[in-house]
Amino acid sequence: MINKSHTTLEPTPEIAYTTHMKKTFKATPKDPRLDEMFKEVFGVDRVRCIQFGTCVSCDGDVLKTAFRDPLSFKEFTISGLCQPCQDSVFGFSEE
Ligand SMILES: [Zn+2]
Repeated sequence: MINKSHTTLEPTPEIAYTTHMKKTFKATPKDPRLDEMFKEVFGVDRVRCIQFGTCVSCDGDVLKTAFRDPLSFKEFTISGLCQPCQDSVFGFSEE
């Protein structure tokens, strides 16, 4: 289903966080070993989750999750965590 050389989403998701970033979800490249670790920890494929817009932790629909700020959205593309899960994992910071 996922063409490895081309990561355009089908259908294109609409994200609640509406800014210039709302084009496509793209997983931030990570060490493959880290991705393996994510699979072990969360039992899911991080990259796949990010591409499909689901949270790696709660399996929630990220498309329905409003991100607090651009940084939080970026974090999703890195960790695959939705806003509530980011808050519980990292703690809410005013930064
Ligand atoms: Zn979540």
